[in-house]
Amino acid sequence: MTMTQTATASMSSMAAQLNMPYTLTPGRATGIYLAELRNRRLIASRHADRVLVPAQDFDATTGRPADEFLELHAVGNLVAFTQTKDEVFGLVQIDGSDVPMLHRLVGVDAEDLSIGSRVTASWSDVPAGNALDLQGFTAASDDTAGAAITLDELSEPVTQVDYVMTLDYQHAYGPYYGTLFDAVRTDRRLRGIKCSKCRRTLLPPRAVCDVCCAPTSEWIDVEAVGTVQACSVVHITFLGQRMPPPYVYAEIVLDGTSTRLIHMVGGIDAEVAREQVRPGSRVQAVWSDRRTGSLADVEYFALVTDA
Ligand SMILES: [Zn+2]
Repeated sequence: MTMTQTATASMSSMAAQLNMPYTLTPGRATGIYLAELRNRRLIASRHADRVLVPAQDFDATTGRPADEFLELHAVGNLVAFTQTKDEVFGLVQIDGSDVPMLHRLVGVDAEDLSIGSRVTASWSDVPAGNALDLQGFTAASDDTAGAAITLDELSEPVTQVDYVMTLDYQHAYGPYYGTLFDAVRTDRRLRGIKCSKCRRTLLPPRAVCDVCCAPTSEWIDVEAVGTVQACSVVHITFLGQRMPPPYVYAEIVLDGTSTRLIHMVGGIDAEVAREQVRPGSRVQAVWSDRRTGSLADVEYFALVTDA
């Protein structure tokens, strides 16, 4: 069926989140800095005539390795600050150091701050062995003065810290994906778009043909039936998988389209799939009970056995 319709998608965007768990290996100098935060001690490194806090293995400016570690009183001057929606961040020049450190400013009102304000460390009551054992800096009285403290002994460096980097974002669909996802969610219908020049049908739809670069123009309903062009059984686990391995990853050309849709062939045991799913196999979509308005609404493609 051919349809001409203005692309007015109501599926305009999707809330998405990217999570990247990882283990940070801080190295010796930062490892000592992190370990000593538990003891409410601020450890710096000396590189010839420059002192850096947090302690570093190498001076990023001169490349010189650390000659020694020293403890600084955790007081200093605010050299810059900014207010975000929820927090105030500042660059703090600790007395005796040569490079300001970035941290949160806690228990302060940004309106009461000015460049040159004296600040002092605010320590966590429950140390966790990470950078936030130093919660941030807070206002100090003007007469507090810092000086290097003679260091008797150092803690063993923290060698590994577990982190999760999280990024929340809105994935904007635009009119082409939006129109497809509208049809998927409301009517369980797949829609492609035809190139105005070479007449290939593209699914997922897009503004410009990727072969002849002509604009696309004509919306086409596409049946959720097609042919496997390439496939592989996935056994390894990685981030973002929709189902646990093993499963069959396949490139499928839906009838009437000229593009490969990447999806899964399911409903059969992976070992059986290894025998039965091959280039040329006919498959059809099995719709999920979920209606999210994405291609994940197709649970998987099943083999068409009576074709
Ligand atoms: Zn074209």
